[in-house]
Amino acid sequence: MSLDIHTILVTLALLAFMLSGLLGLASLHAGNMSTGIRLWAFSSLFTALGFVPAYVYRLPVPGYGWGVAIGASLLLAALGLQYLGIRSFLGKPSQRTWVIGWLGLAIALNFWLCIVQPNVTLRTFVNSLLYGAGSLACARALLVPMAQPQRTAYWLTGASFTVLGGMLLLRAGIIALAPEGQYGLFVSSPLNTLAFFLASIVQLCVTFGFVLMVNYRLIADVQQIASRDMLTDAFTRRRLEEEAQRLLAHCGRTGDMMAVMMIDVDHFKSVNDRYGHPVGDEVLRRLADVAQHSIRTDDYFARYGGEEFCILMLSTTEQEAQVLAERLRVAYAAALVNVAGHAVKSTISIGVADTMSAGLDWHKLVSAADRALYRAKQQGRNQVVPFASLELALSA
Ligand code: GH3
Ligand code: MG
Ligand code: MG
Repeated sequence: MSLDIHTILVTLALLAFMLSGLLGLASLHAGNMSTGIRLWAFSSLFTALGFVPAYVYRLPVPGYGWGVAIGASLLLAALGLQYLGIRSFLGKPSQRTWVIGWLGLAIALNFWLCIVQPNVTLRTFVNSLLYGAGSLACARALLVPMAQPQRTAYWLTGASFTVLGGMLLLRAGIIALAPEGQYGLFVSSPLNTLAFFLASIVQLCVTFGFVLMVNYRLIADVQQIASRDMLTDAFTRRRLEEEAQRLLAHCGRTGDMMAVMMIDVDHFKSVNDRYGHPVGDEVLRRLADVAQHSIRTDDYFARYGGEEFCILMLSTTEQEAQVLAERLRVAYAAALVNVAGHAVKSTISIGVADTMSAGLDWHKLVSAADRALYRAKQQGRNQVVPFASLELALSA
């Protein structure tokens, strides 16, 4: 099988058409990613369209210059759209003025070097520089610190752009050093064909990289929704239970221990009734804030339900947790001095249990802390009750 530039062009154009359709459909239901994906869809479409004149005008027929100028302009516009799409995807300011300036210059130079003063070598050199610089700008936007798994997708796409940019700048260098008239896009040298083939593959890698970026972003968004409470930013009960199982397995293996704190706002219904629901919401946020600031980085604070919260503390005894709970109870009251202009009077009750007194079963542990909490409510609220004190009372 012989591989020539025009076969590659047709294949790539068809693939680009299909990818633009795929990205276009994906952008219809992509929430805050829609704009970025739509820009990439148009970029793929422009790439496909850009190859058409290059294919049609493969022979120097009349109008050849126009075809090449339009094709090159479309390909450069496609790169500009990719850059804008990346900026939008990252939620950064678009830098549209820079892109339009770069593209305007690129298009003017192409029309100049195709129609006004035709010069294939100089045009190929200029386009290699412009496209190479644009690709490196895309790479720079993507090669940023990022949490996994998103980093894999960003860096893969960024690496593809780096390879593309490097290849194009190398090509510009080769053209600059080659003897006059020996270089052109359709000069059928094995080196040119190979370079074109590799560039096409790398361009496809970029588009696949975009699809991977979208996929990982969706997964991260779903994980975020499933693991963080919208109102308080505390972990959700689902995430809490996953972490609890993991920590309890660790305790079982290593003999380590864990304490659990169940927190419930006293008479919260009357806080809502008295100050209104928005103030009630703010009170919950304040409680979450106080709790987040009083725990260690490896503790877990979660919203268990309504106005009920739970804290998991590894390597902590019930007595130690009791001290922390007491501090939290006092800090909560102090945090409510001014909530939307109101001095809200509200207290919390806390039940504490640990794996020593309640065992390594998650449900037993929670129910122990819950029983202690219930006792705190019974005894008049605004207090901390350890589960061990209930056990003592029973055995007495
Ligand atoms: P107790 O001292 O016995 O715990 O009394 P309580 O009024 O706190 O208990 P109850 O469980 O009867 O009421 C909880 C209230 O919390 C009822 C519900 O309207 C309110 N609540 C639950 N989630 C939210 C929320 O997200 N925002 C606000 N503002 N209120 C909430
Ligand atoms: Mg309550
Ligand atoms: Mg409650």
